[in-house]
Amino acid sequence: MQAFFDDYVCLAGLATELVNTAPGVWHGEDQLPDTAALTAFLAEHGIDAEPATRDLEAVHDLRARLREVLDARDAEVIEHRASALVARGLGTVGLAPDAQGRQQWCARPRPDADLADRLALLSGLGVLGALRALGPERFRDCASDTCSGVFIDTTRPGRRRYCMPDLCGNRANVAAYRARRRANS
Ligand SMILES: [Zn+2]
Repeated sequence: MQAFFDDYVCLAGLATELVNTAPGVWHGEDQLPDTAALTAFLAEHGIDAEPATRDLEAVHDLRARLREVLDARDAEVIEHRASALVARGLGTVGLAPDAQGRQQWCARPRPDADLADRLALLSGLGVLGALRALGPERFRDCASDTCSGVFIDTTRPGRRRYCMPDLCGNRANVAAYRARRRANS
């Protein structure tokens, strides 16, 4: 597994989606409750792994650290916290061919890095890449009043408003959620 520095859009997307699997962000439930859910989440992001229970616990802990990164609005604070995540998993930096065969800067994890360390490296690089290319104003709270998610807006126009556009940005979903909450109370 290696991470291309220029791939920050993809890596920042991984960081955003990992943070927003936390309990309380969407409908209250943890979206990574067990190793099967974590395996599926990783596969969606092109990461082939068979996590053990201790990996799941370590990823939950990383998710909380990463939330502190995405909650920051100051460039120096974001950089400081994201650099710590990168350092946690970083092995070597070098050049490698990308999918188009062009030589690109990439980072490789330490050989002994566990799954959470590797995810820390990937998401930390995504955060730093987005910060450098787009600035701290792209780190935002979800605009939905039923969601406490956060996100990094890597879109070209920079007008993204929701952490999970298909869910929080969908009025029908929000209405259904409110109706369910009324019915339960
Ligand atoms: Zn949201």
